[in-house]
Parts: sequence; structure tokens; C-alpha cells
Amino acid sequence: MTTAGSVTAPPADVLREADRRRTFAVISHPDAGKSTLTEALALHARVISEAGAVHGKAGRRGVVSDWMEMEKARGISITSAALQFAYGDAVVNLLDTPGHSDFSEDTYRVLAAVDSAVMLLDAAKGLEPQTLKLFDVCRHRGIPVITFVNKWDRPGRDALELCDELVERIGLQPMPLTWPVGEAGHFRGVVDRRDGQFIRYSRTAGGATAAAQERLDPARAEAEEGAEWTRAVEELDLLAASGGDFDLDRFLAASATPVLFGSAVLNFGVRHLLDLLVDLAPRPTPRPDVDARPRGLDAPFSAFVFKVQTGMDPSHRDQVAFARVCSGVFERGMVVTNATTGKPFATKYVQQVFGQQRSTLDVAYPGDVIGLVNAHSLRVGDTLYTDKPAVRFPGLPSFAPAHFAAVRPADLSRSKQFRKGIEQLGAEGVVQILRSARRGDGAPVFAAVGPMQFEVAAHRLDAEFKSPVRLDRLPYTVVRRLPDPAHQPLVDNNRGEVLTRADGTHLALFPDSTALGVLKRLHPEVVLEPLVAGT
Ligand code: GDP
Repeated sequence: MTTAGSVTAPPADVLREADRRRTFAVISHPDAGKSTLTEALALHARVISEAGAVHGKAGRRGVVSDWMEMEKARGISITSAALQFAYGDAVVNLLDTPGHSDFSEDTYRVLAAVDSAVMLLDAAKGLEPQTLKLFDVCRHRGIPVITFVNKWDRPGRDALELCDELVERIGLQPMPLTWPVGEAGHFRGVVDRRDGQFIRYSRTAGGATAAAQERLDPARAEAEEGAEWTRAVEELDLLAASGGDFDLDRFLAASATPVLFGSAVLNFGVRHLLDLLVDLAPRPTPRPDVDARPRGLDAPFSAFVFKVQTGMDPSHRDQVAFARVCSGVFERGMVVTNATTGKPFATKYVQQVFGQQRSTLDVAYPGDVIGLVNAHSLRVGDTLYTDKPAVRFPGLPSFAPAHFAAVRPADLSRSKQFRKGIEQLGAEGVVQILRSARRGDGAPVFAAVGPMQFEVAAHRLDAEFKSPVRLDRLPYTVVRRLPDPAHQPLVDNNRGEVLTRADGTHLALFPDSTALGVLKRLHPEVVLEPLVAGT
């Protein structure tokens, strides 16, 4: 398509710019310290001078819990998407993975747009449910993961025990690059395994600036730290014996994870994390299209939409589509083609959005995220491109839903609008739509990763399609893929229900794992597959 007055940068620049990009997301459970870490990272990158300026705790909570209210009041979407900052010669894109009450399918979809992930663990809690779910998606997509064990300044678990947990629960080989000196709560610093030196930290008030640190050689560390140092060295010997040495190939193959210990609130260990990302995390690579042909980074502009945010106020219906650039140079004002519809889309209004901050974006390279405003025609999974060759990337998969609700029109005279609305929301990926012959076509079931998706869907049916709905939450908590729908009666007889997703997948839903267990015992012939990412 045409480019409005733009000059495409020479390919050499595109490749150089792509090579500088590190695009990643933090996967964690609420309260592990993701917001704090984000602030600490940005502080090192000198985007801001003081922790808290990007999105202080108060602002963050606002985005999370008052999302609907703010959408209504302001008629625009303010949900965060990506933070971009420079660090040395690198350009770091940190994509937000919404958690807390706005954990949703979007959170998983973000992982389709990153090249690596940082798994943030609370030292006292280790692997927690939301972290495990997000890790599953990373594993499925082969995304390399760096592990940051946070809150080491507080009493917590034993470092070796945390490492063992990674192997035992998720089969991920830990490769610690630093090792804590002083148990959790008496944090003295870390051993840098690259050179055996001791990095001692000292507190600064409230983590407002990066923690002061000094490097000591092992002899001095032993003299000054005594038993704490000796213990750390002994633990390191144990680790070396169990195969915990760093192996770049295993990291890139996502079978092993570099591990760092630190404290986001004290801003200790954070610089090491940034250095690691810049030195070792994967750069953008050519993305395969639907025919598995990779589109070179220096091919003309292409991107795919991984998240669409709709304003909640019908009078100011604003829709922002977030797209990750896959190839070429994006320049504001370009007219791009939507590969799904073949229609042009003008990109006059393009933004970078993170937290409550928005700024206009003029140019973007592979790995960057662009926020396209007024994007009513764009859907999750759409490919955008400019200039030949045309390209279409594979659509984004559906993810394992965890919440279910039967939906029906509150006003039967609006049934037609109801059906239309359901179809539209399903196509947009706002919620998954499940159906069964038993429930009938007019009474589908919403399935979602997080319950906020129900609220958004119900609100939009009411506001946009003038079809208010009744939602009845269904008591199912366990979901499996049922390859053979002939087994449906057996599922029904064991307190379950079989529903079919728009993509044709049959899902068997159970109220609890006991019901699933009983079915498996009584009928071992029934194939029930766990759902992760993918169709
Ligand atoms: P999020 O929910 O993952 O974004 O977590 P937050 O960044 O909001 O942190 C949750 C709580 O843990 C807050 O009270 C933070 O101050 C605290 N916190 C975060 N990092 C650390 C840390 O390294 N040490 C300690 N002691 N507290 C931390």
C-alpha cells in the first residue's frame, strides 16, 4: 500500500535497529513485585529519575481496579501496554502482563508478542498459580525465561530449595548467575558467578535510587562476611555438581533458566537483570507467516495485533489496537493493509501507551509495540503490512479458559441483536463462545481466562448492541480437551458438561478435580487432554 509521504529507512538501519531491541514481559503472581521491578528497571534506564514516576503504586492500583470506571468517565482506554526505554545502546520494550483482577486472555496474548520473559518469584513463595499459568504459555511458545528471585531482603525460603522447585515442578533447569550471601531476610549481597566476586549492597532510602554496591574479591569477602560467605560458596559447589552452570543454548531453547537473586524495592540485582537481558536475551527474529515462511526483518513493514482495547463509553467509542512490529520501519501516517480484510488502515494516530502515560509515536522498528487509535476495524490476530510482498501471520490461539458463565438476553425482543453481539464479541476475542445442542444456539456459554472479560462482554452487549444480558456463573473449575465427542454422555454422567468452542474444539468441563478423577478411573478409555495455549 501507499506510504503517506514517508521514506522507508534503508534495510541496514532496520537490521541494526532490530538488533538493538529486547522485547520482553514479566510473568509473575500478583504481589511478587512486578510494578516495583518495572519502576526499578526504568530507573536504571534513566527514563525517570525516581522510582514511582512511571506508575507509582497508587497509579497502578488505579489502572487495575478502577479500569471500568475510568473507561466510563474518560471514554478512552488507558490500560497499559508497553514501556520503552533506552539502556546503553539497547532499546528495551517491556510489555505489560495485566494481573490482579484484570488477568485475562489478553495477558496470555501479550506473550505472543515478546521474545523473552522474566519470571519474577517472591522468595518466600516460589512458584505461584498465576506464574505457573503464564510459564505454561512461555513453554508452549518456546519463549526463553530469565528468573529473578525477588524480596531477598525479607525472610523467605532457602535458595537451593527454590532452585529445586523449578526442576521438580516445571522441569526447568536453574542456572544461577548470582548466588545470595546471607539467607533471605539477612541479605548481604550476591556472589557473581562469572568471576566469583562478592557484590555487597547497602541500603538507600526507600529504593528511591539504585542501591549502592561495591565489589569485593573472595578473600576480602570471606574476611568480612565470615560464615555467610562460606555457606554461599559451599552452596555454589553443590550447584556446580548438579549441572547448574550457564549454558546459552539451553536458555535459548527454553529448557534452562538463568537465575538472579535480588530485591526490586531496594533496587538490588536489577541492573544485573538489565545487563543480562541486553547481553543474552533474544533479539527480534523473522516471524514465520501462515505458510511457515519467515518474513525477513528488513522486508517492508509488517505487524500483528495482539490486543484490542475498547473504550467503555458508547458516546466516545475509542478502540486502541496494539500491534507488534515484525518487519520493516513503521512511520506514523503510513497507510497499511489489514491482511484479514484486505482493507487499508490509516495510522495517523499512533501512540505508545503505558500505565497512564500516552505519547505519540513517530517511528517504530521490529520488536516495538505501536498503539493504533480509532482502530475499529482491527481485531486480535490481524496482520498489518505495507508494500509487497503481502503477508499474513498465523492468528493468535485461544487459551485455556478458567471461568464460565451462561449468557442469555434479559430482553427477549432483542434476541437478534443479542446473537449479532455474541458473534461480534467472539470474533474479536473478547470472550470465548461455547455452545452445545443441549443449551441451544440462543443460549451460549462465555468462557474466559479472567472474570473481567465477562464484565466487558456484558457491558458491550448492553451499550453497543442494546441487548442487556443475564449472566449465570457456572460452577466449573476444571477444563480438558475432549478429542472424541462421542464420549460426551460419560462426561455428563460424571457431573461434567461438554461444550464446543467456535474453533471446533470440544471442551469437557468439571466442577472439580474429583469429578475428573472419577471419570478417568471409571473410563480410562476416555481421552482428556490438558489445555495450555494453542487451539
Ligand atoms: P505486583 O502486584 O507484582 O505489581 O507487586 P508490587 O510491585 O505492587 O509489590 C507488592 C508488594 O511487595 C509491595 O508492597 C511492594 O512494596 C513489595 N515489594 C516489592 N518488591 C519487594 C522487595 O524486593 N522486597 C520487599 N521487602 N518488598 C517488596
